[in-house]
Amino acid sequence: MSEAASYSFRDGVAVISMNNPPVNGLGSVLRPGIMDGIKKAGADPAVKAVVIIGLAKAFSGGADIREFNTPKMTVPPSLHEIIEAQDDCPKPMIAAIGGFALGGGLELALGCHYRVALPESQLGLPEVKLGLLPGAGGTQRLPRMVGAAQAVQMMTTGNPVAAEKALGLGLVDEIVQGDLLEGALSFARKLIEQKQGPRRIRDMTVKVDGDPKAFFEKARAEVGKASRGFPAPLEIVACVEAAATKPFDEGRNEERRRFAALVEGKESKALRHMFFAERQTTKIPDVPEDTPVRPIRSAAVIGAGTMGGGIAMNFANAGIPVSMMDVTQEAVDRGFTKIKDNYASTVSKGRLKQEEMDKRISLIKTTTKLEDAKDADIVIEAVFERMDVKQDMFRKLDSVMKPGAILATNTSTLDVNAIADVTRRPQDVIGTHFFSPANVMRLLEVVRGAKTAKDVLATTMKLGKTFKKVPVISGVCDGFIGNRMVEKYGQQSLFLIDEGCSPRQVDAAAYKWGMAMGPLAMGDMVGLDIGWEIRKRRYVERPNFVYSKVGDKIAELGRYGQKTGKGWYKYNLPDRKPIPDPEVERMISEYRKEKNIQTRQITDEEIVERLIYALVNEAAYILEEGIALRASDIDMVYLSGYGFPPYRGGPMFYADTVGLKNVLSSIQKFQSGYQGTVWKPAPLLVKLANEGRKFND
Ligand code: NAD
Repeated sequence: MSEAASYSFRDGVAVISMNNPPVNGLGSVLRPGIMDGIKKAGADPAVKAVVIIGLAKAFSGGADIREFNTPKMTVPPSLHEIIEAQDDCPKPMIAAIGGFALGGGLELALGCHYRVALPESQLGLPEVKLGLLPGAGGTQRLPRMVGAAQAVQMMTTGNPVAAEKALGLGLVDEIVQGDLLEGALSFARKLIEQKQGPRRIRDMTVKVDGDPKAFFEKARAEVGKASRGFPAPLEIVACVEAAATKPFDEGRNEERRRFAALVEGKESKALRHMFFAERQTTKIPDVPEDTPVRPIRSAAVIGAGTMGGGIAMNFANAGIPVSMMDVTQEAVDRGFTKIKDNYASTVSKGRLKQEEMDKRISLIKTTTKLEDAKDADIVIEAVFERMDVKQDMFRKLDSVMKPGAILATNTSTLDVNAIADVTRRPQDVIGTHFFSPANVMRLLEVVRGAKTAKDVLATTMKLGKTFKKVPVISGVCDGFIGNRMVEKYGQQSLFLIDEGCSPRQVDAAAYKWGMAMGPLAMGDMVGLDIGWEIRKRRYVERPNFVYSKVGDKIAELGRYGQKTGKGWYKYNLPDRKPIPDPEVERMISEYRKEKNIQTRQITDEEIVERLIYALVNEAAYILEEGIALRASDIDMVYLSGYGFPPYRGGPMFYADTVGLKNVLSSIQKFQSGYQGTVWKPAPLLVKLANEGRKFND
């Protein structure tokens, strides 16, 4: 047997132990050993039952990602062949599930005839998250165990279920308290005593609620609506339908055929790109992975406003004591109340236990004295967005904080170097750009100043991971990666209105294409006054910069978006659903008349191209300037912070899919037909397009 799998024999039960850390990925080192064990147990008359167990921290996390896209993927036996051998095994076979059984790991467990699990174990088929479907019989076996409705739910969301729930669903036969192997062995002995043989899932039938035809029609409609053109969920529904209506082998063939098509599809390629892109962001070419990090045992946050409160919650969630400071007791109290309300709402939704909430809240101390921050290992400043205010704060922090503390700013636009340079320790200064709400949004732009020390960078990246965020490094520039690009996106959305679109038309096209929301609805959410302030600054800084003035018109009316109940849409607050407003339509048409703008019909295709290529073109400048380390980092910024559809892989990956030549030629067309100075193709884009290359090479 291979080293990754071992075989032992106890009281008539063969035990196949998988040991391929960290998560028992079903790689080429493990598969042959499992197969040998099944064959040996099947052939030995002394063996009356077989247990498969994971010795690493999990039963199995599925395919071994380290072997993705390598020839090792196809080393025999395949998982499918192993599961066939399980089906053919004349002895009852039991999966002993500790930690988790996910993807191929759960398919292996479903190849067993029985399953026992530790109470905290998780079971799931998350393939949909990579744009795939479970391809080793999962779509055929899971419905036979839990019924069609639950199987559709589990596989189209990809979310795992905990052992208790799995027991209720019939996916697990017994919960083991205490030692997993001992529990599995006693379960096996019970089977032997009761002379219960193999119970092959393939021989069972699928339970469907009501008439199958009506059930699957409804499932298709619901899943289709939620997945908006993303193919994997509907393919999963089709496989479950096959499981319910066709013999097992036919259903299995259908699963295989549909799986193969998805693997080749652009959506799954995009999601797999995202999977690897997320693992890349912490790799920094000039900062080795073993760079020592500074310990972060305590923290301070300055400013108890929108962002400060959310940032403090990140520390508390990670078990790090944090003090939150603001100028007045009133401001501090307001911020702290908001934090408590936030936690309470999570508790009321059943997503957090009351004791846990109390524990986290007890980690947050409030103060009005800056000196209380002095012993913290890191301080994050989240005061008003003004250079003079920030510089003044950093001078004070420099004199207060202990040596070696990290001094971070949450600025969204200001020059981190200019902030660092007012201190005597610019090497300890860094930008941590959180996104609102800071306790929810996964993106964290980590802004590396010209003098930021390597260990400060490594520590901050690690802290981002501790917060369960996607930390992406950005160089210093106005707006960093994400907001610098979004400005161009917003700019196009306004031009589109100038030229004849309604706000709803622009938003609907972007939403249909897959964005979480359209640019104008997003503006209403963020606050239209923010863009207005930036444009006013731009009119002075960059007089040649062309902007539509329609965004200023709406802001001048005091329509700042959701916060004022009116923006590009109107709102029946607290309901945040955007409602088209005839007043806005009227304002836009008067504005067009005043500016003497000829309108025309604009297709959804053009809307999407202009929005997305505006992002891509600016991103190419950002990449060329070295503000972003790699194209996939830019993709992660948009995927984790701006509602970009994961199955399109991020703006750079999407541009690669379209072909940079095609992207360039559209941009050139826009450049000649529309606002000439706006669409200047980035030199890097031109170069790569001419060389037939990609951003994500
Ligand atoms: P906010 O107005 O909600 O909160 C700022 C807080 O800082 C206020 O409570 C204020 O009393 C306090 N403050 C001001 N000067 C202070 C001082 N000298 N000492 C202590 N406290 C002081 O602002 P916000 O939205 O939380 O933004 C804070 C920072 O985060 C800004 O730099 C902003 O650009 C950035 N940011 C905001 C967002 C967002 O969506 N709101 C997103 C990313 C970054």
